[in-house]
Amino acid sequence: MAGNWKMYKTPQETATFFERFKPLVNGLNQCDIVIFPPALDIAAAVAATNGTKIGIGGQNIYWTKEGAFTGEVSAEMLVAAGARWVLVGHSERRHVVTSESDADVLKKTQAALAAGLTPVVCVGERLEEYKAGKTNEVLVKQFAGGLAGLTEEQFAQVVVAYEPVWAIGTGQTATPEIASAAHKLIREEADKRFGDQAAANLRILYGGSVKPDNIAGLMKESELDGTLVGGASLDPDSFSKIVKGA
Ligand code: PEP
Repeated sequence: MAGNWKMYKTPQETATFFERFKPLVNGLNQCDIVIFPPALDIAAAVAATNGTKIGIGGQNIYWTKEGAFTGEVSAEMLVAAGARWVLVGHSERRHVVTSESDADVLKKTQAALAAGLTPVVCVGERLEEYKAGKTNEVLVKQFAGGLAGLTEEQFAQVVVAYEPVWAIGTGQTATPEIASAAHKLIREEADKRFGDQAAANLRILYGGSVKPDNIAGLMKESELDGTLVGGASLDPDSFSKIVKGA
């Protein structure tokens, strides 16, 4: 169960969040819990979660170790700051902040793995693509360009997040059936490229307006291995309820 804080919270607010959140999830062992704070909050998040099972990740990386890339952060820098996870290809990076391509997503995923981070690779269709019935086409293309180029060993380390863009931050959650069908399609692509064992082992998260009141319905679907939560992960009470929904 993962929380993407996007561009919210200062280091002080990060410390305050974990003071309240840690007791709420203490002793829960049924799932991994990961928070993706803004890069400037990672040190505070790592310090606040030291000695717990809560993982911390970055929201983005560039694919080289260092260089003249103003504003970017490398996988190695995240690791040095204590992060163990990273989001790759979030829709806000594909469509809002920059226009990350599937080829960029592959390079970032490879860089994350080489540095020892677990990448959570985000895929998902936009509203116009959903309305045009192109969801499967988009997912197949994003899988082919962003994930199929990995080796079998690399793929075994990757988590995928299905995030229909029309459901992100809109309050319009995909129904459990829609999410499940998309996860099944992604798993089939994984099966074709990497084999049935790799497909069965792949963890696929659903993301898009997940809230405490819809988590139970979503997690009843056997295709869903967890969720990636934006807005509702900013509040310790609401995110702890979602974590308990696992
Ligand atoms: C996200 O940021 O990945 C996300 C799913 O956001 P929200 O839960 O706010 O829709």
